[in-house]
Amino acid sequence: MRLLSSLLSSSTLLAHNFTSRLRIPISFQSHNFPRLFSMDSSEASLRNALSQKLSAVEAQGNAVRALKAAGAAKPEIDAAIEALNGLKIEKASIEKQLQAVVSGGGGDGSLNRESFRQTVSNTLERRLFYIPSFKIYRGVAGLYDYGPPGCAVKSNVLAFWRQHFVLEENMLEVDCPCVTPEVVLKASGHVDKFTDLMVKDEKTGTCYRADHLLKDFCNEKLQKDLSISSEKAAELKQILAVLDDLSADQLGAKIKEYGITAPDTKNPLSDPYPFNLMFQTSIGPSGLLPGYMRPETAQGIFVNFKDLYYYNGNKLPFAAAQIGQAFRNEISPRQGLLRVREFTLAEIEHFVDPEDKAHPKFADVANLEFLMFPREEQMSGKSARKIPLGEAVSKGTVNNETLGYFIGRVYLFLTRLGIDKDRLRFRQHLANEMAHYAADCWDAEIECSYGWIECVGIADRSAYDLHAHTEKSGVPLVAHEKFAEPREVEKLVIAPVKKELGLAFKGCQKNVVEALEAMKEKEALEMKAALESDGEVEFYVCTLGKNVLIKKSMVAISKEKKKEHQRVFTPSVIEPSFGIGRIIYCLFEHSYYMRPSKAGDEQLNVFRFPPLVAPIKCTVFPLVQNQQYEEVAKVISKSLTFSGISHKIDITGTSIGKRYARTDELGVPFAITVDSASSVTIRERDSKDQIRVSVEEAATVVKDVTDGLRTWEDVWSTFPHHTSASAED
Ligand code: AMP
Repeated sequence: MRLLSSLLSSSTLLAHNFTSRLRIPISFQSHNFPRLFSMDSSEASLRNALSQKLSAVEAQGNAVRALKAAGAAKPEIDAAIEALNGLKIEKASIEKQLQAVVSGGGGDGSLNRESFRQTVSNTLERRLFYIPSFKIYRGVAGLYDYGPPGCAVKSNVLAFWRQHFVLEENMLEVDCPCVTPEVVLKASGHVDKFTDLMVKDEKTGTCYRADHLLKDFCNEKLQKDLSISSEKAAELKQILAVLDDLSADQLGAKIKEYGITAPDTKNPLSDPYPFNLMFQTSIGPSGLLPGYMRPETAQGIFVNFKDLYYYNGNKLPFAAAQIGQAFRNEISPRQGLLRVREFTLAEIEHFVDPEDKAHPKFADVANLEFLMFPREEQMSGKSARKIPLGEAVSKGTVNNETLGYFIGRVYLFLTRLGIDKDRLRFRQHLANEMAHYAADCWDAEIECSYGWIECVGIADRSAYDLHAHTEKSGVPLVAHEKFAEPREVEKLVIAPVKKELGLAFKGCQKNVVEALEAMKEKEALEMKAALESDGEVEFYVCTLGKNVLIKKSMVAISKEKKKEHQRVFTPSVIEPSFGIGRIIYCLFEHSYYMRPSKAGDEQLNVFRFPPLVAPIKCTVFPLVQNQQYEEVAKVISKSLTFSGISHKIDITGTSIGKRYARTDELGVPFAITVDSASSVTIRERDSKDQIRVSVEEAATVVKDVTDGLRTWEDVWSTFPHHTSASAED
């Protein structure tokens, strides 16, 4: 006998989609397709103006040809040619304006974005922030190494993540293996559904992600083919807006309709089909225990829920956290560090009572105001706008306080790292984009040269994961709320009479029993009433796909009073999931700038990393190669080491300007220059301002500013300023 409130069967759960990667067909009817996405009015009017101007140019061209053919007088032909040239100039001007609008400003904005990316990447690779893995063997797409400064930035980002989340919320950190037995990922749904849609070059067999090809096609048309009508542009934009929602059939149909071919060979493409992104392996030499490299770290936390809950004194809410490698066999990784096949994830699973998702510290973040992009605004073609977080939660735009709290904390985390708040937005998942069990999902998206990139997913996943593992493992992953006083509750009890059901349904008895037990209260009470009045009732069993006849003798439905001492429930999970590599790459782009050298003959690269993330906090330079200065530099270096400040001594004979330029390019925020035995200068990277401090004070000043105990403005107003004609670049 099972109470009606018992769990749904896992087969019911898995019949639905489970990750954002699964595509659910959405209606693609012509009535809603082009209209859903309204285009920016200036773009639409420019497209209309351009198409009129193109017609006018064509008509005038025809007129000129006709005049020439008819042997008209020269002044008449010249006047017509002049009119034609005037129209062409007007057409070119509209094209220029339209180009500026579609590429986000700057006329040839997309080219600028690409060349900006190239410049940043060149600097990053040259200074070994990252290196394509296995480079001497020509590398493998989607695999990268972090070199020394990259490692240092990554470890600073992770240290701050631990401080900002794990320490602040007393989270329980775990560290689970990457190799995961199949049963775990079968229960979570990854084995069946963790797929992307792939197409193959029909001649060479090269694989592509189907949605990426469609996306590239739409973007290229929109940006490079200015002659398309405003209706066509709206249609392409609508496709881009719902790209994540398209089914295999819809994607295939669009690829055919637009004549999209393999990018490298122009060969025809296969129909899209699902490709599972997990790397498969087998555990142990027998090959009998299948396993996978984990595609996320979360499952390690879910399977440990029971022990973690006990460790936490059987109390909710609590959060567990994990930092570790995740593996996804991406179909055709093309976006540098943004889409890779192995990456570091930092994930939080915050377990909460589904009946109480209030957060005691929500007030701390309620007044934050930042760019949010609710689903309604996306569907109506509007842009993200600044919304106070408190208002977003109180109006129900964000589903609950705990989800809101984490959105606020993620905002603070990213902006403190140095992400530009104007290029950070929180985008709500569209209804179809969200897994069926999720209550609400928001992505922290950061704008970089690749567009808006999802860097953190923040989802209320309800009780899906714990339910799924409870079902598969048979271990109840539940929480208890003990009542101060026992409570009398009326419970609906459904008791299938197995003997009768067995006689009537034989091999199908189990399906009928499960379906009866899974009835909701309303449905069960209706059945009870029908059985009492008619003695039998038709009942649909979804696992059989048909109606069966239930007689009064086959099931007893009653309401019973019971004393309960506790409530047993499956907690909901709020999950912020951070792609560390994506955050770091966006940080690189947001921190990068160029400035002219002092002589004005070259552009110098600078990363304006905040001290918190800078790979090295300080450099120490003797101004000239001289033993006395080198000794002072060594003394300062010792004090910096003692204070835990990462630094580097540069005693090369290169000019001081060149040495500054070298460290600016690594984003080192402070430089100590030894130019006397008793005092030194400290230079701040971005302002290039210098102060003079005693040798004894140097390390403490750098430590205070690096640790955020003092600001540069503060030390600037405290210490004498140093101005030197010779020192600066
Ligand atoms: P998901 O579980 O797909 O929502 O991914 C969680 C986070 O992992 C995302 O917000 C991304 O920041 C990051 N991520 C996902 N796939 C990749 C990838 N192929 N390369 C790098 N980061 C990724």
